This record gives sequence, structure tokens and C-alpha cells, in this order.
Amino acid sequence: MYLILFGAPGVGKGTQAKNLSRKYKIPHISTGDMLREAIRKKTELGKKAEDIISRGELVSDDIMLGLIDHRISEDDCKNGFILDGFPRTQAQAEGLSQLFRKKNLPDPLCIEIVVPEDIIVARLTARRICEKCGMIFDPVTNPAPPDNICPKCGGRIVQRPDDNPETIHQRLRVYHEQTAPVRDYYRQMHRFVSVDGNKSVDEVFREIDEIVRKTFHVQ
Ligand SMILES: [Zn+2]
Repeated sequence: MYLILFGAPGVGKGTQAKNLSRKYKIPHISTGDMLREAIRKKTELGKKAEDIISRGELVSDDIMLGLIDHRISEDDCKNGFILDGFPRTQAQAEGLSQLFRKKNLPDPLCIEIVVPEDIIVARLTARRICEKCGMIFDPVTNPAPPDNICPKCGGRIVQRPDDNPETIHQRLRVYHEQTAPVRDYYRQMHRFVSVDGNKSVDEVFREIDEIVRKTFHVQ
């Protein structure tokens, strides 16, 4: 079972990926988490990525594909995996298809979670983050404690400077420009579905799960 969870920041991809991962016992592969881990472990790719990020540039498609190639070759991926945060551009989607062909994997199913823009803005503006460890607090799935002290590390819980409505609108604009071709790419492959993400976490999961069960003939 090869899944891509697709959608703008703030639609709840990470939460749904974790739920799917738990139910189907396949790994949740978040490219953001992977980059941070590669950097922390100082792997060859991690060192390269750190260098690029420290110059304020974006990590190239080649590096991202290298990271994914390495990760999906691990043993826990032999029955499938869930990609979260990748591909974000058409070039990345094409690169991923090449990688799948090289590894003889069936085409992935791309599931988009759609949430109206004003709701995303409201969700992201309500989001808080720990200054010290980076833990994210969401009013619905993981509310910050009333004293605003991180339960994990004791750091201060604050609002991210770029989580203001104006910046969020700008981020969403960039996101939609880049990702529209990715949507078309999987649609042409007949491997694209979209679900209404403007519901409770459980309801969205039920909808995604139904699609997964039908597509892959599992229970
Ligand atoms: Zn913390």
C-alpha cells in the first residue's frame, strides 16, 4: 500500500498519516522530519542539506529523492508506506515515479485533504510552538497547557512569527501555485482522490480509510 498524503499546511495531513500508519502498520514518512533527523545524525545527505538550509536555500529535488530512496529501501517499507510532505512539485512527482519504476513498485495513491482557506488561516493562527524543542500545539488535536510551559522540555510556548494571517495567505498562494501540477499529474494517472478535511479528525479518517480499503481491497 503506497500512499501520498497531499494538502496545504494546516489541513491535518500529519495527524491522518499517523492514524493510517497505526492501522495498516506501514511507516509514516515525513520528509520534514527526515531532513531534521538526517541533519541531527550528520549523515552525508544531512550534512549537505544543513549546508543548503543554512544558506537560506531550498533543498534540491535530487537530495530529497536521495533521502526518500534511502528511506524506502529500509525493511519496514516492504509492505508499503505513507509519504507526507512530498512530492510538492511536478519535477518531484516525476522523480518519484522514476524511483518507483526502478524499485518495481505499483503506482502510489495520492489522497488530498481539502480545507477552505479561511479555516486553514484560523487553524494556523491558533497554532502555538515550543520555543525550545519545536513541539507544535494545535487547539484541537494537542492544546497548549494554560501556563504555556512545554510539558516535554519546560520551554516557553509561543506563536510562530510566520503564523500570522498575512504570511499564511502568502504561503498558501505559493503552495497552490507549486502543487496544482502535482494534482494534475496524479489525476492523469487515475491515482488521485480528494477528501473534505473540514470535519472532525475521526470523520476525516473514516473517509480516507474507506477509500484506502476500497482501493487496496483490505479491511
Ligand atoms: Zn518543548
